[in-house]
Amino acid sequence: MPEGPAELNLLRELSGVAVSASPLDRQSYSRDLWPRHHINVSAGQLPTSRPLAVVWPDTVEAAVRVVELCAREGLPMAPFGAGSGVCGGTLPDPRTVVVDLKRLNRVRSIDRERGVLEVEAGAMGIRLEEDLNVAGFTLGHFPSSILCSTVGGWLAARSAGQCSGRYGKIEDMVVSLDCIVGRGEPVRFRRRTQGPDLTPLMVGSEGILGLITSAELRMHPVPSARAYIAYSFPNLEAGYESLREMFQAGLRPAVSRLYDAFDSFMAKRGAVKRRKDKSQSSPAAGAALKDAALRLLLRSPRAMNFALDAAGDKTFGGTLLILIFEGTSSENADDLARVANIGARNGGQPLGEGPARHWEKHRYSVSYRQAPVFMSGAFSDTMEVAAPWSRLGALYHSVREAMRPHVFVMAHLSHAYPDGCSIYFTFAGSAKTHEEALQKYDAVWRDAPLAAAQAGGTISHHHGVGRSKAPRLSAELGFGTEVVRSLARVLDPAAVFNPGNLLPTPATPRGHGPVGFAGSLEVDDRSLLVSARGDRLMGELHDEAQARGMNLGLSQLDRNETLRSFIARGGPGSRDPFEDPVDHLVAGFSATLRSGSFFHVGAGPRKAVGPDLLSLFWGMGERTGTIEHAVLRLHRNGLSSRPMLSSIERNPPVSAEESRWIDALTEAGGSA
Ligand SMILES: Cc1cc2nc3c(=O)[nH]c(=O)nc-3n(C[C@H](O)[C@H](O)[C@H](O)COP(=O)(O)OP(=O)(O)OC[C@H]3O[C@@H](n4cnc5c(N)ncnc54)[C@H](O)[C@@H]3O)c2cc1C
Repeated sequence: MPEGPAELNLLRELSGVAVSASPLDRQSYSRDLWPRHHINVSAGQLPTSRPLAVVWPDTVEAAVRVVELCAREGLPMAPFGAGSGVCGGTLPDPRTVVVDLKRLNRVRSIDRERGVLEVEAGAMGIRLEEDLNVAGFTLGHFPSSILCSTVGGWLAARSAGQCSGRYGKIEDMVVSLDCIVGRGEPVRFRRRTQGPDLTPLMVGSEGILGLITSAELRMHPVPSARAYIAYSFPNLEAGYESLREMFQAGLRPAVSRLYDAFDSFMAKRGAVKRRKDKSQSSPAAGAALKDAALRLLLRSPRAMNFALDAAGDKTFGGTLLILIFEGTSSENADDLARVANIGARNGGQPLGEGPARHWEKHRYSVSYRQAPVFMSGAFSDTMEVAAPWSRLGALYHSVREAMRPHVFVMAHLSHAYPDGCSIYFTFAGSAKTHEEALQKYDAVWRDAPLAAAQAGGTISHHHGVGRSKAPRLSAELGFGTEVVRSLARVLDPAAVFNPGNLLPTPATPRGHGPVGFAGSLEVDDRSLLVSARGDRLMGELHDEAQARGMNLGLSQLDRNETLRSFIARGGPGSRDPFEDPVDHLVAGFSATLRSGSFFHVGAGPRKAVGPDLLSLFWGMGERTGTIEHAVLRLHRNGLSSRPMLSSIERNPPVSAEESRWIDALTEAGGSA
């Protein structure tokens, strides 16, 4: 007779589901890679709250049985990919069932004609990419965690890979998603470029809206050639001005990474250090001394940050930009020639191929430098934010200022778009006691996201929200958090999908508007964005763009249609996102729901702050509510990117089951 609580016995009776309640498994699955846990573990404190059990369904039917049981018994479920999340997305309590998807890991099909693969959610990243390469394809998604993350985790956390400059983020690769929602109902959501499209609600849902069991994803032929180049710039601004010009001119370097002066210095120094360490075995006493020195320095972050600023960018050899292009040899040669002009205009000194090739060689190792910091008794973490180009400087300075009293901080920019860019901050700190270390760490996460939101940026570009940023989510989404909560009530009526994750408690108060957009039509020339009230006519937006030598990129224009109707109809005539996955038409918007509540989603090139709520309006008619204002992307006349061709169906028919969920979700969203 099996031992344990009655629920555990019920789990064990499910066919096709491996179950473990062993102390080791419960301990191993009690957390993800949230660095707050590492601080505790470094102090010898293992998590005290462990899940009830870990289950490994190996078919969709088995996964359905798990969801049905958990919904019926009211058992919380934590969907689990590889646990590489860094935001506390997995924090099970003693009644939680951790649902590890890794046995659901088959590549179901590779459709060469359409350029689409169908893969189960538990497939590990690197294995999948290697299998695709053998078939002559690439997914184009290379997060630094590719060795330790899954397809389902990428989708659930709205991940970005190192080649996002050409292939976009994971949301740009989605063709369809198979999910288990409700009390165990499987459903396929299909992407439709003109809507209705519910896939953006599941992407970024971080396990709170259902279980993603498989996905159809776009794939690409392996590129025939790569080209590498690096530049040194006198300061960060000159470097990101170059990036901005490149992306706005239609250039799409697969990899573009710009390091601030100290991050550049560390990158170069890191390479030298590794070489030295190979020839000299470092004596234990010397290593201990180094650790003690590091801890001491990190205890005075203000002084260290100040010294760094006083030294100036020049001391550290300026900032470093590395670029890698993928395409044919002649395309790459053209792109490098255009880059050379832009770089020279901004004071960039070409450094040849070396630094970019060096980065590529170590492209996955750089992310694993955290362990030595923790082993030395200090702590570190990263925060990835993003904003339109016009706000990037303010974002950089505000977030640094917010972190500086608590920790030492450096940054690089690694995901650029025509309308903006993300900034990846790395910070490190140290304290005399474990409690003090936690206080400093929590102070960073209390202050920095708020600073990002106040500077007009997003609090997450690709790591997601988890439990670390949930308390600050309303600073960015306002009442949008409650719209997500009302969607969760429909998709998860038993309230068992990853409770406590992503959404803040207490609830965000009802927002009344419209607020956040005073003018009726404004152009941000640096970010190539136009903000307009929902009642402005598309003809007016078009004329404003034309007067500045720009266009909306529309192949058809109904001059008398309002902006809100254009969005409700799914942007007829707008550019095909499959041709340029990096370029999104709508950067931000605000809306009044049918209930009268108002919420605002600030402009940003990309976000990873939960479901993309534009999905409730894009091509949905006005059934959820009314668009009050929207921010659209402008294109300079005569400049466009090289199109990526695809025969994937753009607007497949809506199935009866999808239609039912569309009705239920627009009803719930509108009445939030
Ligand atoms: C060294 C390192 C480098 C990293 N580099 C990057 C990077 O370059 N880019 C990037 O985007 N991220 C990066 N990350 C963060 C992390 O790898 C990503 O968030 C990744 O997408 C998580 O995948 P996972 O399979 O490990 O998911 P997990 O950590 O297991 O889960 C993440 C969240 O998704 C939910 N979830 C997982 N699977 C499913 C599913 N099938 N259905 C529904 N919900 C699910 C979980 O409940 C959890 O909330 C890095 C992390 C580390 C440790």
